[in-house]
Amino acid sequence: MSEIEDYKNKLFFEPKNGYDRLESGERLALESYCEDYKAFLTASKTERLAVRECVRLAEERGFVPFSAGMELKAGDKVYRVNRGKAIYLAVIGKKPLAEGCGIAGAHVDSPRLDLKPRPLYEDGEMALLKTHYYGGIKKYQWVTIPLELHGVVALKSGETVDVSIGAEPDDPKLVITDLLPHLSADQYKKSVRDFVPAENLNIVAGSVPYTGEGGDRVKLAVMSLLNDRYGITEEDFLSAELEAVPSYDAVDIGLDRSFIGGYGHDDRVCAYAELRAMLDIENPERTAVCILADKEEIGSEGTSGMQSLAFERFIDELCDTQGAKRRDCFANSLCISADVCNAFDPTWPEVSEKRNSAMVNYGVTLCKYTGHGGKSGTNDADAETVAALRRIFDGAGVVWQTAELGKVDQGGGGTIAMYMSRRDIATIDAGVPVLSMHAPFEVVGKLDCYMTYKGIRAMYENY
Ligand code: MN
Ligand code: MN
Repeated sequence: MSEIEDYKNKLFFEPKNGYDRLESGERLALESYCEDYKAFLTASKTERLAVRECVRLAEERGFVPFSAGMELKAGDKVYRVNRGKAIYLAVIGKKPLAEGCGIAGAHVDSPRLDLKPRPLYEDGEMALLKTHYYGGIKKYQWVTIPLELHGVVALKSGETVDVSIGAEPDDPKLVITDLLPHLSADQYKKSVRDFVPAENLNIVAGSVPYTGEGGDRVKLAVMSLLNDRYGITEEDFLSAELEAVPSYDAVDIGLDRSFIGGYGHDDRVCAYAELRAMLDIENPERTAVCILADKEEIGSEGTSGMQSLAFERFIDELCDTQGAKRRDCFANSLCISADVCNAFDPTWPEVSEKRNSAMVNYGVTLCKYTGHGGKSGTNDADAETVAALRRIFDGAGVVWQTAELGKVDQGGGGTIAMYMSRRDIATIDAGVPVLSMHAPFEVVGKLDCYMTYKGIRAMYENY
């Protein structure tokens, strides 16, 4: 090597493709991890289903429900479910809670179509269900794709009925129709925002009329099927949370199978990385905490979102077991806000600034800040926190990169990071780069999924 090349190597920073940096044997570990993630993603098409799958996996590994007043010792594994829609897990560390926790927080809600409180109606002798979209979607992407319906109907009796249509092999699917090109002269003139109006996101639910005379017989027939299957009446929709989601199982993508395609990588890909890291660690120095939150896609509001004090309650009750103060615990903690970012897309390069974009296969992506315009609405991690993560990731052989969310004035986004830092917790965003984010079928690179797991695990074990 020439002298100048040598000097460049010493002074310059030039990221490399993760496949050229894998440790020996790591390719197998990566593939096996991704098979497990695909199964998790397919089973977790809503926040409630994701939380249930987490509980199942955690209990298999010895986690038990935490209640206030329990005695805890180092190595104990506990979890708490918040209203069926969020979950917090902890592995108790050797150091006291007053010295802080290693925290990773992801979200398990994804963009989708919720049924309206009065969804069912009949028009043109077809039965339809009206929806209200949840999260940031491009509405035109959600028509003419197979959909499933999942959620709960809470009855006046206090009983809650689970609803699931479309996931089992012999189940029917649902769909939203679109205009044929032959008659789209007026539609073609509209902007993309209005191309498919929100009030046209109506799900086709049936067409056979109930035997007899009179109006609304197709609606009656569909309501009758729902009554047979779930014991519900039309009024029960008022206290229901029913979510239409794409009926896509997670699959390999690409001739080399290097990607995973599926619905809801944002943010179940980071949720699984955290969860799996929790399941795989034993006896961390500091207490490891895993948050899988709800409602991130609509601003982290609500009792199950990260602005909720339900998290404080969990930490308070953990601290009570040691007589520790929550304020000390928070001030000494380190939090990875594990959320996805946009991957550089060679088909749409104009929205990215190439030097500061996340590349597929370049590993888990640290984002010092997200936000909009002049960094509004972001945590903007301090340099010391970024350095702490550099130290932890490099120490564990994690393939990682840094990125901004596209060109400065092109748009923007947020995560739970600002709500974690508001609690006086040093927080930084890190996660998996995604192609087609928020589409019904998103794509991620397998190497990045695995490195996010490896990075979060390294933080749990080395903070
Ligand atoms: Mn997200
Ligand atoms: Mn999102």
